Amino acid sequence: MKTRLLPIITAVCMILSTVTANAATVMIDPGHGGAGTAGAGAIYPPYMEKSLTLDVANQLCSELNASGISAAMTRTGDTALSLPERAAIAKNSGAKLLVSIHFNASAAHDKSGCAVWTSMFGNHYKAGAECGNAILSNLSSLGFVNKGVWTKAGSQGDYYGVVRYGTSVGIPTIIVEHCYMDNATDRAILESVGTGSLAHADAAGISSFIGSATGQALVNGGLDTSAANSASSVTVAAGSGKSSGSSGSSANLKANFSDAEWQWLLSQWAYTGNAETVITQVPLSDLKALIEEHNKGNI
Ligand SMILES: [Zn+2]
Repeated sequence: MKTRLLPIITAVCMILSTVTANAATVMIDPGHGGAGTAGAGAIYPPYMEKSLTLDVANQLCSELNASGISAAMTRTGDTALSLPERAAIAKNSGAKLLVSIHFNASAAHDKSGCAVWTSMFGNHYKAGAECGNAILSNLSSLGFVNKGVWTKAGSQGDYYGVVRYGTSVGIPTIIVEHCYMDNATDRAILESVGTGSLAHADAAGISSFIGSATGQALVNGGLDTSAANSASSVTVAAGSGKSSGSSGSSANLKANFSDAEWQWLLSQWAYTGNAETVITQVPLSDLKALIEEHNKGNI
């Protein structure tokens, strides 16, 4: 259980090792992204979640930087990113806080309001809840119903992946669900106030939190945010370059696995659109560890 996620994180970090992350105190993560319906998030014309999140994130990032809080984004274009990649980018930038931007939707279109999800563990909860409440207070002043800060347990710790992976690399993480993009009441508010007001509500909340006792302790290293969750031993290698132990051509690599195992491995990197090439950058030992966990039913 404790090491279940290590091979995945390690493998992703090898892939990410050529990504140069800008130093930032706050990493803003525009939810979703990438081609097709897989990357879109919720779609309720004229809104597509991946575009709304990027729109808000761009304005939020600019506002934070203008106010003297260094901020960067996990994606600045229509890019597919896995959840571990989002956490790894935050870690590589030295971020103290990871803020994932989302919009909600419900099948019956009858739910409304803003909410924040964060880790259920220790100071990760403390920081996430305080920052989340500061943001929600501002969003509710725009007219959205404040549904509060929530946690959710899953089989590996925190249920939501970006929260679990962020927490596992020691970075308090929140998911901000700004409003329901399919609900008439929330859409009317969104159209009336505009995405800039949502970004401003986020920025003011983050700024207020960073200035608080908890926020200052977080930024200055006085708050213990050592990794929680099952992936507690994860370390993220920054700028280490490609592994010298990588496996070479995909044909050579494939010989180490059954057809079913190989197809499963490829499926783990399907989001890259180039799994056969990407997988050759992952050390064979990591791939074998992944398969071992998969065959045990752990992944
Ligand atoms: Zn979303």
